Amino acid sequence: MAHNVIIIGSGPAGYTAAIYLGRAGLDPVMVTGALTPGGQLVNTTEVENFPGFPEGVMGPELMDNMRAQAKRFGTEFIADDVTAIESAGSDDAPLYRLALSDGETLETRAVIIATGSNFRKLGVPGEVELSGHGVSYCATCDGFFFRDKPIVVVGGGDSAFEEALFLTRFGSSVTLIHRRDEFRASQIMVDRAKENPKLTLLTNTVVTEIHGTETAPAAPALSLGGLALNPKPQVNVSGVSLKNTVTGETAELETAAVFVAIGHTPATDFAASVASRDEDGYIIVDGASTRTSTPGIFAAGDCVDRVYRQAISAAGMGCRAALDAQEYLSE
Ligand SMILES: Cc1cc2nc3c(=O)[nH]c(=O)nc-3n(C[C@H](O)[C@H](O)[C@H](O)COP(=O)(O)OP(=O)(O)OC[C@H]3O[C@@H](n4cnc5c(N)ncnc54)[C@H](O)[C@@H]3O)c2cc1C
Repeated sequence: MAHNVIIIGSGPAGYTAAIYLGRAGLDPVMVTGALTPGGQLVNTTEVENFPGFPEGVMGPELMDNMRAQAKRFGTEFIADDVTAIESAGSDDAPLYRLALSDGETLETRAVIIATGSNFRKLGVPGEVELSGHGVSYCATCDGFFFRDKPIVVVGGGDSAFEEALFLTRFGSSVTLIHRRDEFRASQIMVDRAKENPKLTLLTNTVVTEIHGTETAPAAPALSLGGLALNPKPQVNVSGVSLKNTVTGETAELETAAVFVAIGHTPATDFAASVASRDEDGYIIVDGASTRTSTPGIFAAGDCVDRVYRQAISAAGMGCRAALDAQEYLSE
């Protein structure tokens, strides 16, 4: 039996679409992704800019809440990956067949692709261990935490420069590190960076390791029945090892944060045969809608949006995809 609508991906875009479609009585099915159900926010600590949480909320808790809300309205979850989508119906009654990585197939009248994007990693020691403790991939999300502290940004494209310039509002200094001596970023961004007294450009340089040191816990010791409970000390970023790509010279640089801005890869390869994509793999949608190049297939969130890349903007687009799908299904 064909489903009404299948949502692929369980980030803010996917869960929001599921909440709307569930409330519309369309019995949505969600293929959550096998490895990271909940999406990118399950890998972060505190989220301070999602409306409705005046004290902030931990990323995994926010995503658990979204899942519970989608479940409440009847969403069925399948913990797997979609590996391909193909057309299986006629022009009069379009149908789509989704292949899952466990070999199963699902049929559906409409699809919402909400598979997000993966940020590229540096792949150096310390990066994974200190992620969320000074290593970040999003200046808008985390810049605020590094007020009056030295910050490093790695990358040489427009987004690296945008992040670095934005971070000068917070950091005591910002050092942008790039492996070549020429930047991919537009000249206007480079000029702006050069004019900014807080920003230093370090070219022909790579980060070879990210270091952390233990810092005292922010919260005071708790007392439970006369027993003192000391929160665990945290290890946070304290510096980076650098290497000059031309001379081979090495150096150490103190920093409280490393923002990695070397690009994102949208997770859209599986949809290539049904949805037109741009040269970087982002799904192309029709104007302000979420309609892709194939009727009945919609896309939302970071797999479409190369500009805003925030939980709230992904959630907003998930809402639009649900309303677009709802209209399509009622035609
Ligand atoms: C470390 C970090 C911290 C961040 N902090 C903030 C913050 O404080 N505030 C903020 O607003 N934003 C923050 N962001 C950005 C925010 O997480 C993203 O903008 C948002 O999660 C995008 O939502 P999405 O639904 O488009 O995709 P994602 O959250 O990326 O979810 C995509 C989902 O699709 C699934 N998927 C992928 N491929 C397949 C497939 N083939 N089949 C099935 N499922 C698949 C994945 O498993 C995942 O569940 C942060 C991002 C990172 C990485």
